[in-house]
Amino acid sequence: MSKSKTLSFILELPLKVNAPQEATLHTRFEAGRQLYNAILGEAKRRQKLLRESKAFHVARKMPKGKQRTSAFKKLNECFIFREYDLHKYATEIRRSWIGKHIDSNTAQKTATRAFAAVEKLRRGGAKKVRFKGKNQFDSVEGKTNTTGIRFKNNQILWGKLSLDCMIDESDPVVAHGLKQRVKFCRLIKRKLNGRIRFFAQLILEGIPYQKHQFPPAEVGLDIGPSTIAHVSFTDAQLETFCAPLENKQKEIRRLQRKLDRQRRANNPQNYNADGTIKKGRNIWHDSNQYIKTKNQLNEIQRKQAAHRKSLHGNLANRILKQGNVIKTEKLSYKSFQRNWGKSVGFRAPAMLVEMLRRKAENAGGAMIEFPTTNTKLSQYCHACGEYHKKPLSQRVHTHCGLNIQRDVYSAFLALSVKDNALDVPSVNERWLSMETMLRTASLSGKESQVAKVRQLSNRESSDSFKRLVRKVSAKSDKAQDVVAEKQLLLFTL
Ligand SMILES: [Zn+2]
Repeated sequence: MSKSKTLSFILELPLKVNAPQEATLHTRFEAGRQLYNAILGEAKRRQKLLRESKAFHVARKMPKGKQRTSAFKKLNECFIFREYDLHKYATEIRRSWIGKHIDSNTAQKTATRAFAAVEKLRRGGAKKVRFKGKNQFDSVEGKTNTTGIRFKNNQILWGKLSLDCMIDESDPVVAHGLKQRVKFCRLIKRKLNGRIRFFAQLILEGIPYQKHQFPPAEVGLDIGPSTIAHVSFTDAQLETFCAPLENKQKEIRRLQRKLDRQRRANNPQNYNADGTIKKGRNIWHDSNQYIKTKNQLNEIQRKQAAHRKSLHGNLANRILKQGNVIKTEKLSYKSFQRNWGKSVGFRAPAMLVEMLRRKAENAGGAMIEFPTTNTKLSQYCHACGEYHKKPLSQRVHTHCGLNIQRDVYSAFLALSVKDNALDVPSVNERWLSMETMLRTASLSGKESQVAKVRQLSNRESSDSFKRLVRKVSAKSDKAQDVVAEKQLLLFTL
């Protein structure tokens, strides 16, 4: 299969859908789901046969090289386990009722998705391949904009369906997007405030509308569990990382616990005496209260994801305003989580890095990540040229009397990494002109507040801390929430 290598971006447009159209869409999404599950099942079956074959075990023991690769290729062919074979399988399935609802292009793309899922498992990128449940299949897409699902004259056309897109041409993002060539279209089904809405995503050739002009300069970046430091030659910033997200996380945990309690109360027959779930196929009863909680949880998670995305977007723009070439240590998110627990996951540092990469590349810059093992920036001291481990609790680099916030210092060092190694002469040279600026960033950051709150928390009893937690979760005023959340965050640092 030839894959186009040109850049692409997505323009999302809400769809105007009347009741009959909505019913048709639901039927087609359901057909798409069943098709996907059928192909996935078949792909898994063929893969299993392949792996159980003698030839596979022979091929596996071969030394790496051309011969081994071609042996595997041959195996895939023999066991009809190639993307192309699954396309053919999809065509067969379309002879059933599914063919009335899913065109051949969309069916092929569905096969590609199922194949990719199984392949991901083989490559170790996924632990399990899951069949899609009733409400888990929420997108269908075409292959090109000429047949199947396509966009034409501000409408999505799919078989006999023609759906109007809601288009705000005064929005420069939309206006820019509509001028580009459409590679293919995707339809998305989303639950918003308990109602299903449909959206069209146009996958377009080129780069998205550039709202900001980012200067061609370098930025050193250090992502900590709760702080983020970004330093260019002319500006140094230290800030808390997505602080306003904290509150929803507590709410999510509360709802998850509630959901678990309700599930247990509704289905005592599915649990062992020790509270674990019985093995095998269990039938689950969902009470209305359970469904209500589940919808609440979904809604809050969706809102949190949207909130995080917008916080990430703002943060990324602030970083890119300093420069479009970003240098940072490649983070091991696993060790991150080991050291800092769950406080990291929901802030999604990996997502921020990916967003920065995309935005930097779109702006003609780059995201440069280098391995920590080479650079060990958090241990280095440029004044003596030595490496010293500091405990995570030590937030200030004090060696040789430097006295500088450690994340700011790491970001400063990251700025001078060249070809995966620290360029020591330029660190020394830059230090002379940047020292004052770096110190100011350290002071204006939240770290001084952290110290203050730490002292407080030492003095106050744990009771008053619990009172504060209760107060925070009870508060409804949004602005106050943010303030209280920040305090909470500082407590938990
Ligand atoms: Zn030193």
